[in-house]
Amino acid sequence: MLYYSTNGQAPKATLGEAVVAGLAPDRGLYMPESIPTLPAAFFNNIDQMSLVDIAYVVSNTLFGKEIDSATLKDIVSKTLSFDIPLKKVDDRSYSLELFHGPTLAFKDVGARFMALLLGHFNRQDKTDKREVNVLVATSGDTGSAVANGFLGVDGVHVYVLYPKGKVSNIQESQFTTLGHNITAIAVRGTFDDCQALVKNAFMDQELREKLKLTSANSINIARFLPQSFYYFHAYARMKEKGIKDVVISVPSGNLGNLTAGLIAKRMGLPVKRFIAANNRNDVFFKYLQTGVYTPTHSIPTLANAMDVGDPSNFARILDLYSHNHDAITADITGYTYTDAQIEETMRRTIDTTGYLLDPHGATAYQALQDGLKPGETGVFLETAHPAKFKEKVEPIVYQIVNIPPRLQAFMDGKKEMTTLRPYFPSFKKFLLETAR
Ligand SMILES: *Cc1c(COP(=O)(O)O)cnc(C)c1O
Repeated sequence: MLYYSTNGQAPKATLGEAVVAGLAPDRGLYMPESIPTLPAAFFNNIDQMSLVDIAYVVSNTLFGKEIDSATLKDIVSKTLSFDIPLKKVDDRSYSLELFHGPTLAFKDVGARFMALLLGHFNRQDKTDKREVNVLVATSGDTGSAVANGFLGVDGVHVYVLYPKGKVSNIQESQFTTLGHNITAIAVRGTFDDCQALVKNAFMDQELREKLKLTSANSINIARFLPQSFYYFHAYARMKEKGIKDVVISVPSGNLGNLTAGLIAKRMGLPVKRFIAANNRNDVFFKYLQTGVYTPTHSIPTLANAMDVGDPSNFARILDLYSHNHDAITADITGYTYTDAQIEETMRRTIDTTGYLLDPHGATAYQALQDGLKPGETGVFLETAHPAKFKEKVEPIVYQIVNIPPRLQAFMDGKKEMTTLRPYFPSFKKFLLETAR
């Protein structure tokens, strides 16, 4: 299968090329040339299958022509070495807990799959034996998922750039304590400074000639497509309970997670419809209401991983539905919530059901409460463990949030980082001295 760019001005790419490139040369996003459908027999038996078995069938349908089955099986089982349980919250709502991975957020799934796939393609490249250097700028969560996904992957070195003093202690410990092939760089500046350093590195002629460079942000096809796996898994676990007519609610920021669900539906997954839950950053909500897309600056909120003013995967949604607003709103309904509403939902839910939501999952849960019609049952994606936002969550729900042991383990490690000023020549010198 080949991948085309949503901007239509770049040559089609193989999977290997699209993974290494990230963004297409015309700055569009890669999309699969055709979206294969899964046979009815698969859906008939899906409730008998495990998460890993389901993910293997889906990934083989998507990537089977490019990657041999033994390698793909290995990548899938290593990616999903943790469970994704579906828990009942109330009579009509179930939580798909995507936070049981190493960094306690759903981004682990895409980041781990991408790391293993990139490692595979790099080993296959017999003409160029250099290491691949992954540069990633982070405001917190992406850096930890990517660094942990790539930890110990042969032939790949990761540089995580983050704004010094502007990420939480928990987040910082998740990418500065790893060592091995992970280098953390604390930049004396903002997230935008980190992103500018990374962009400059990709544009620098000398660096591009001397080093193999790539990015690992969420627009990468190898991070985005594997997120479809757990939508099939959610359907399977609901079918096991004899529940049909499922509506899936997704807390949305860059829209990568939602778009992966839409791809699953296009592959045949019988989901009734999707709900896109926004915080106050509501450009997608407004687009659904009006058909007009007006990107803007992001506003900081309680659910900060969804603070996006110009979601990158919006281009993929438009492309998937041939820019047809009616077709898009037939599959997706939108909701938007203020911080006060998110807090209220978190408090009410723990009081009435005993279930502790994180602020991101809370938007999606509330959207089910507001959006489910009689007879429908909802699944919402719980995208992060509430302990990741301990300082914010505790005063909202008036209770202590315990830190899971695997999160505590990071916090007990020794932090190591190089501190740089946001000055490109310093960053370039550092790369030339340390990268291979
Ligand atoms: C990244 C993130 C989101 C938003 O996902 P998108 O794919 O960007 O829409 C939601 N919740 C959490 C916890 C996240 O880290």
